[in-house]
Amino acid sequence: MIESASGAAANWAGNLTYGAREVLTPRTLDEARELVASAEKIKALGSRHSFNDVADSPGGVQLDLSGVSGSPSLDTRAATVTVGGSVRYGDLVAQLDEAGFALENLASLPHITVAGSVATGTHGSGERHPGLAAAVSALEVLTADGSLLTLTRGDADFAGVVVGVGALGAVTRLTLDLVPSFTVRQDVYDNLPWSAALTHFDEIQAAGYSVSLFTNWARDVVDQVWLKNRGPVEVPASLFGAVPADGPRHPAHAAGVPAGNTTAQLGAPGPWYDRLPHFRLGFTPSVGAELQTEYFVPRAAAPAALEALRGVGHRIAPLLLVSEIRTIAADDLWLSPSSARDSVAIHFTWLPRQPEVEALLPTLESTLAPFAPRPHWGKLFHGEALDLAYPRLADFRALAARLDPTGKFRNPFLDRHVFGS
Ligand SMILES: Cc1cc2nc3c(=O)[nH]c(=O)nc-3n(C[C@H](O)[C@H](O)[C@H](O)COP(=O)(O)OP(=O)(O)OC[C@H]3O[C@@H](n4cnc5c(N)ncnc54)[C@H](O)[C@@H]3O)c2cc1C
Repeated sequence: MIESASGAAANWAGNLTYGAREVLTPRTLDEARELVASAEKIKALGSRHSFNDVADSPGGVQLDLSGVSGSPSLDTRAATVTVGGSVRYGDLVAQLDEAGFALENLASLPHITVAGSVATGTHGSGERHPGLAAAVSALEVLTADGSLLTLTRGDADFAGVVVGVGALGAVTRLTLDLVPSFTVRQDVYDNLPWSAALTHFDEIQAAGYSVSLFTNWARDVVDQVWLKNRGPVEVPASLFGAVPADGPRHPAHAAGVPAGNTTAQLGAPGPWYDRLPHFRLGFTPSVGAELQTEYFVPRAAAPAALEALRGVGHRIAPLLLVSEIRTIAADDLWLSPSSARDSVAIHFTWLPRQPEVEALLPTLESTLAPFAPRPHWGKLFHGEALDLAYPRLADFRALAARLDPTGKFRNPFLDRHVFGS
């Protein structure tokens, strides 16, 4: 029996009530296939952590695949795990660790589904690590006619399908590359002078397996640097003028947010899955009442792009909880925000004041325009001054026309930002 939750569903942040008529939860893969084949408008829904209408299907239905996800299947010889699309990273990681394996990287929160994260190009940090989608080595997609398409890395359309922004079908299963399990220590440094952050940007990024800078743009210092390092390793007594924090920190510490929901800091070693995310699974991640925006620019442009944003910092700060700056290695996935370029991602956690945030976004985008910014597909952006010149965008559009000829997976977000109509 297909479960139906009719009426208005909302996203995690509560800033969007979906225009879809209902959320359907099939109990078997065959039910899911029939649903997709017979639908006029349909969209796979993950854990609803996106801040815009990317997951909406106005007037149509949203498909919750949690009823057909099954259990993760570990292949220890190949060092891979195959999971249902609706599995959340947080539900998977302890089991991998017990078996001696790890994922190379994670996002700031473990609450999000694998398929939803991969579809939007979700990422963690670390100059050597691409986004989470780069760990996908195979996937199964339920396409518009109800058939299942399996693609493996190296297949012709594979690199187009992985970061699919929900436009190509519903991903039912994904196979992820694993690495041997590892431990991580997390250290926070306070008050990095902006001049040092810009001058020593490369050395700071090289100082950890994963590095995040947190700022509110309003002060002469970057409020915090978070270093996540593998194994029992010595960390510097100071970092280009920043000093070790004297207690646990929330990223939005400068806005007065306490550290209760964060993973352990102060150098205490722990498993990769309990240090790479900033936030713990059993708690509300981040702040809760918030909105988010993020732009990716080429890594080499980082200091100039950050300087440009500091110039409008006085307009950003009143609406901001905190900004995070991370680096991401290039991948070859067609619509990945770091497709074909090493990137720095500049993130904004906003106060929940959407009209004012939306009014400011064109200013941010024109400020970043000289650096060819790309948006995070799951966060708020305006769009006009953005670089949608992904090297394979035309191929992606052709692939979508082939897999979904009537556009049942298309929605207003995709029409605006991907299909240009
Ligand atoms: C507190 C917070 C912290 C965050 N931190 C980070 C971060 O550190 N790094 C980062 O990059 N992002 C971050 N994000 C953004 C988040 O990772 C993305 O919005 C991600 O897409 C959320 O996954 P989801 O499962 O909620 O997907 P949803 O929001 O439900 O859906 C997103 C898209 O994925 C598609 N989709 C979902 N399931 C499937 C499926 N089975 N098959 C095909 N398409 C599917 C949907 O159709 C939609 O297009 C954060 C968000 C929040 C709320």
